[in-house]
Parts: sequence; C-alpha cells; structure tokens
Amino acid sequence: MIYYKTYEEIELMRESNLLVSKTLAHIAGILKVGINGKRVDLEAETFIRDHGGIPGFKGYRGFPSTLCMSVNDAVVHGIPTEKEFKPSDMVSIDCGVVLNGFYGDCAFSFGFYEISDNLKKLLKVTRESLYKGIGAALVGNRVGDISYAIQHYCEKVNGYGIVRELVGHGVGKNLHEDPEIPNFGQKGKGPLLKEGIVIAIEPMVNMGSRGVKQLSDGWTILTKDGKPSAHFEHSVAIKRDGPDILSDHSYIDAVIKNNAEIINISINC
Ligand code: MG
Ligand code: MG
Repeated sequence: MIYYKTYEEIELMRESNLLVSKTLAHIAGILKVGINGKRVDLEAETFIRDHGGIPGFKGYRGFPSTLCMSVNDAVVHGIPTEKEFKPSDMVSIDCGVVLNGFYGDCAFSFGFYEISDNLKKLLKVTRESLYKGIGAALVGNRVGDISYAIQHYCEKVNGYGIVRELVGHGVGKNLHEDPEIPNFGQKGKGPLLKEGIVIAIEPMVNMGSRGVKQLSDGWTILTKDGKPSAHFEHSVAIKRDGPDILSDHSYIDAVIKNNAEIINISINC
C-alpha cells in the first residue's frame, strides 16, 4: 500500500532528510585515514541525538549501528568495524534518522585520496545515475521510467553492473514503504507516480558484474567478483511541478572541499 503525503508531511520529511544530510556532512569532516568505522558511527549517533533525532537504522530488524558503512567490495548494509581506513579505500555510508515521526534516508560514497581513476569514474557515474533516476520521477511517469533511466546509464552507457537483489523504496513513517524502486526495469512499467509519493532512489552500482552475496554477519552485501561497488541515495517527493529532493548532498560536498583526504566527485547533470 502506498501512503501519499500531504504538503505539510513532506515539509516534516524535509527536516528529517536535512538532518541526515547534515549528519553525513559532519562525518565527511572527520573521515581520515587511520580513523575506524566504529568511531565514525558513534560520532554520527551523537550528532543525530544532539539535533533531536533518533538513529533510524540502529535496532531496525536488529541492525547494530547508526550507519551502514560498506567498504570497497561491500555494496550496502555493512556494519562499522574497528578496522582503520586506508588511503585507497572507498566507503559508502548510508544514514537514516527519525525526526517528527518521519524517516529521512540518504547515502553517499566517499573515496580516500589514493583511489584509482577507475574507482573515481565509478563514483561519478553512480552519482550521476541517481540524478538520471530523479529526472524521471515525474507525476504521470511510472516507477519503471526511473528504473530504466538508472539501468541504461550504468549498464548500457558505462558497462557497469546494477544490483538486482536490493532496491529503492517508498519512505515515510516507515523506513521501507511501497512502492519498490528497482534500479533496473522497463519504461512505462510498474506503479504510477502520483503527487505525494515520497521515494528513496538509491542506485547500487558494481564496477564488475552485478552478482552479490551476503557475508556471514547476516547483513553485509558483497559483490560476488570482489570488485568495488558504489551507492548514492536521495529521498525525493513526487510533486506536480517536478521532483523535490528532500535530502541535500551539497552539505557533504562543502565539507569534502576542505578535507584533503577525501576526493571531490563532480558530476555532469
Ligand atoms: Mg539509505
Ligand atoms: Mg534507502
């Protein structure tokens, strides 16, 4: 069942998503070679609670931490560990909060200063594909139009693999609501996009083949071929005058500019 949000509810969701965005920006400022994921996770939890929110992932179906932190060949749902980050690492960080009774959900992938040019391109293309999807999130379109836009750009144009097993989703008072938003599909298929639907669009893009497997921790999703995977996510409200992006990566970009250890990912959109 799809829950349609009122204008007022969408504004409350914008607050939730801005807190997520600012939490990720806070994290962007402390990400350094030598820091470990658990430490970053604690910083995120403190930041969220200091701003009146509740971590949205911690305890969700038993997930143990505030952030999902997926390093290199981890796709999504990685658990922060005590392992220190290296100059060649890429880490996808997904954050959720509850504020005003609504979830915010947003993700960003960070590359440390020694990542390869191939990895830089994966980050750029994955981030661009998110906006290809958002560009199709129009009243009167169908979910498949979003799915197709992302898949076409990643697989056909750039030769990457789109993960099939995990998808974007409706978001609101629940973290995962209908409709599902796959990152692969056909134009003109799937649920109709109507005003008031709020969805998390989140391409998960593998540098190699699309196959994934689950780690024995019961959470972390890894690429089958061991190659890296990137992930960017926005929560987006469907509105008559076009998609309204409720989360905001510009807070993160502004901090990365002043953190010499994290590379800037500029996109053409
Ligand atoms: Mg997320
Ligand atoms: Mg999500």
